[in-house]
Amino acid sequence: MRLPPLPTIRDLIRMYKLSAVSKLSQNFIMDMTLNHKIVQNAGTLTGCCVCEVGPGPGGITRAILEKDVDHLHVIEKDRRFFPGLQMLADVTGKLTAHHGDVLRFEMNNLFPESFITPWSESPPKIHIIGNLPFSIATPLIFKYMESISTHSDAWRYGRVPLTLTFQKEVAERMVAEPNAEDRCRVSVVVQNLCHVTVKKIIPGSAFVPAPDVDVGLVHFVPKKKPIIDLPYRLVTKVTRTVFHHRQKQLKNNLKALFPDDQQNLVDAMIGDADIDPGRRPISITNEEFKRLCVAYSRICDRLPYILNYDYRNPSSKKNYLSIRAVEEELNSVE
Ligand code: SAM
Repeated sequence: MRLPPLPTIRDLIRMYKLSAVSKLSQNFIMDMTLNHKIVQNAGTLTGCCVCEVGPGPGGITRAILEKDVDHLHVIEKDRRFFPGLQMLADVTGKLTAHHGDVLRFEMNNLFPESFITPWSESPPKIHIIGNLPFSIATPLIFKYMESISTHSDAWRYGRVPLTLTFQKEVAERMVAEPNAEDRCRVSVVVQNLCHVTVKKIIPGSAFVPAPDVDVGLVHFVPKKKPIIDLPYRLVTKVTRTVFHHRQKQLKNNLKALFPDDQQNLVDAMIGDADIDPGRRPISITNEEFKRLCVAYSRICDRLPYILNYDYRNPSSKKNYLSIRAVEEELNSVE
């Protein structure tokens, strides 16, 4: 689909005085060749419903619309961009601009019900794309991973793929293999739920204003079955704890999962998972994380208060102590 002649992105920015606001991590891409390349990396979009995060002046938005999509929804926090977006809506009849914060925006009912595709099948004809603001990229991807794990929000429609930008370092962490120095919690959480690839590194100089860092374009396709098929909260708790002190041995990090008077559970968990307690966190494979999570989950099935135990939170410690006091009283009555 060819869009009718429109003011260029650069003209729009001049016409509406859209100087970048650093608080909203605004770094624009003016080069339409690059915008088309970003969109190409999402795959075939013809006839798809697409949701774009942070359209700003609308460069990627135009490239998506030229793919002859069924409909495009965009979510933008900065109202200054709405006249430009409205112009695209008027000439195509295929764009809906939503004003809001993408961290709170729900996609439960955004797309037609007829697009729902069972999880066990190929992804539905729906896609999420965005040159994300750096300031929210990490919380947003964790929010999306939680929704993928529960098949909720956009993932009520099936295994909706995402094509999103991140700071290059963050993109590389997402695909980091065991023993890579940048392997961390996000590597395990993302790889557990998605097939993830870095499609392209974009130099910082391609953006206006240019950030100090380069950018990675990352493509995610939710897996039919996660490696660790356990609640998101449990998986993130175990991975966060394992990586808490990256230089420490596995055994020392796991101590934080259990109260002081139940430290024997550390050995029980590691024994059940059959992993060397001296391992460094970055060396642990996704399969070994699965064994650790299963072992922790078995302990939580037996002692449910352990799942809520949080060594950093005094009220959870107090809760734990009162549960133990009741247990002891019950034992002494028996
Ligand atoms: N897509 C445009 C481009 O590539 O030129 C702009 C990308 S710019 C990096 C990020 C965009 O996200 C900005 O337009 C900014 O206003 C918007 N934004 C920032 N925080 C947001 C939020 N919490 N919710 C929705 N949009 C947000």
